[in-house]
Amino acid sequence: MHDTAPLKYPERIELARIPTPLQKMTRLGRKLGVEVFFKRDDLTGSALSGNKIRKLEFILADARTNGADTVLTCGGAQSNHCRATALAAARVGLESLLLLRTPDPDHPPAPDGNILLDRMAGAEIVWVTPEEYQQRDVLFQREADRLRAAGKKPYIIPEGGSTALGAWGYVRAMAELAADLTAIDGGPVKPTTVISATGSGGTTAGLLLGAQLLNLDVRVAGVNVCNDRDYFVQVISGICTDFFKTQFKGGATKPARPVEIIDGYVGRGYALSRPEELRAICELARLEGVVLDPVYTGKAFFGMLAELEKNRHAFGSRIVFYHTGGLFGLFPIFEQVATVL
Ligand SMILES: *Cc1c(COP(=O)(O)O)cnc(C)c1O
Repeated sequence: MHDTAPLKYPERIELARIPTPLQKMTRLGRKLGVEVFFKRDDLTGSALSGNKIRKLEFILADARTNGADTVLTCGGAQSNHCRATALAAARVGLESLLLLRTPDPDHPPAPDGNILLDRMAGAEIVWVTPEEYQQRDVLFQREADRLRAAGKKPYIIPEGGSTALGAWGYVRAMAELAADLTAIDGGPVKPTTVISATGSGGTTAGLLLGAQLLNLDVRVAGVNVCNDRDYFVQVISGICTDFFKTQFKGGATKPARPVEIIDGYVGRGYALSRPEELRAICELARLEGVVLDPVYTGKAFFGMLAELEKNRHAFGSRIVFYHTGGLFGLFPIFEQVATVL
């Protein structure tokens, strides 16, 4: 195993406020009958917050090494990844272009929440239909060609930054979490289940790889917020395989642990909320003063509660819920949130 050799990380640009706190949720834990910690990656920054920034530290370093001056990426209209990319790009002196998904590109959504921040960061926004988005590689090439014709040097960042290179961000986060837990336990990490939201797979892949490379007694489970279990097992296995092929040569060649996806909590669909999900978010805000987002962490948290209700021992005696950010996604749906207050 690789538990003794220190990991050799690729070049990165320091952008995130890390290490983030690992906080014990005492009242929530008492209620659930299990020890619960939150790893606060919603605190990796202010406007530049959430999980994507950890991946972008490595990805933007690569963009800079490649001499790029403009980064292209894509996501839903309220994409946290696009907002983080636009702000991080501006932070390091790069321009950004975002392919944002919306049902009717002629009538894009109001510049609320993340879109407001994208615009403020100076990102060029190209609105695309869900059908066009399925062919986003074609759109990326079209926009990259257009930029090159204008004398620019484009660099494409796939959806969510969920690539083998981006996965380093969550390998590093797992090393950070291991240090947090060791400080609490005063010794090797005790059996722990790490639960996070899975949206494009890179975070879950990185955590899984980190647990393997660091040889930790940690179970990694993702609650999918779109698609289904089979889809993400395939996507995450693909990122891991690619990681071993391109990033971590000479060691293991494939993931040592199964990819664990907890399916059944997509609800009404991606970025669509149910009242019971919003209620769980509001209850946690009151109980612990921690605010989750409706698209990712709220659904993952709701799923975790539902699984614990079915089986109080589902995740063992200790859970780390990975709070991956997303606060700005609450504001565009304020009317819906207000109905459950
Ligand atoms: C993107 C995102 C996720 C999901 O992470 P992936 O690496 O895309 O699976 C979770 N939470 C928030 C707030 C996000 O923005």
